[in-house]
Amino acid sequence: MAFAPKPGCPMCSIVSAGNSSAPGTPNSPTNAAKQNEILWRDDNFTVYRETACPVSSKGHIIVVFNLHVPSIYTLSSSDLPLLVTLRDVSHRLLSSLQTQATPLSSPAAHPQRPLTSASRLRSTRETFRIGFITPPFRDNKIPVTDHLHAHGYVLPADLMGWWRAVGYSPMAWYDIDDLIAEIREETSNNRVRSGVNPRPIDFVPGAGARRGTADGIETTDAPLGVIDTDVEQGEANPTSPMLLPPTPTTVRGPGSTPTTPTADSAIPHLRV
Ligand SMILES: [Zn+2]
Ligand SMILES: [Zn+2]
Repeated sequence: MAFAPKPGCPMCSIVSAGNSSAPGTPNSPTNAAKQNEILWRDDNFTVYRETACPVSSKGHIIVVFNLHVPSIYTLSSSDLPLLVTLRDVSHRLLSSLQTQATPLSSPAAHPQRPLTSASRLRSTRETFRIGFITPPFRDNKIPVTDHLHAHGYVLPADLMGWWRAVGYSPMAWYDIDDLIAEIREETSNNRVRSGVNPRPIDFVPGAGARRGTADGIETTDAPLGVIDTDVEQGEANPTSPMLLPPTPTTVRGPGSTPTTPTADSAIPHLRV
């Protein structure tokens, strides 16, 4: 396997811990001392909430690639759908954390709603920051530089000291929207700026995923993730399964009350 788990890597151990427990598993008291609150797990990512040293009191999440991928320079254009998924999952999880922090706020009350409205996308970009810290810079409280992971947090970063802020400064920070836009710009030969105002291309996860030479030879690399990147399909359905969290199976027998999945059940919170 190209990116096999590395012994001693803290991120690899978080991924394997997330794999060994089922979603919704109650806290094991023996693990209570040193635990990470796993918010999300799928074939590509394991997301946990940074509870020991968050940069924001409203929420700080770490999106860990399940593979021991060394850096963003390992990514190619065929990984664009993976990056779009990372961004959407992070938005949804940060929205749910924000809702927990301020229960009466309504804009994030429906984290299950697909990101289809431009105004919603714009508002989340003003509320959250999602991106990568590029080596040799690092978050000095989470000093992992050789296992690719994204940081996401709710603004303002009220718990970030000045020294730690270096890793989150423009010098070191690679915003996920900028990364997506730059890869698209390189492959699609379009000027695709990122910014506060989303463009139609932002709603097409596979845009720019294929690359090739002017004489029609395709040079697309194999993707890292396990997402079905059938780029011939064109625009992805916003309600496609890859954008939705694993929902617990709902059993509806005669006489039983149909259960409505709530945000809590759809985004399993478990501790490992
Ligand atoms: Zn690792
Ligand atoms: Zn980091």
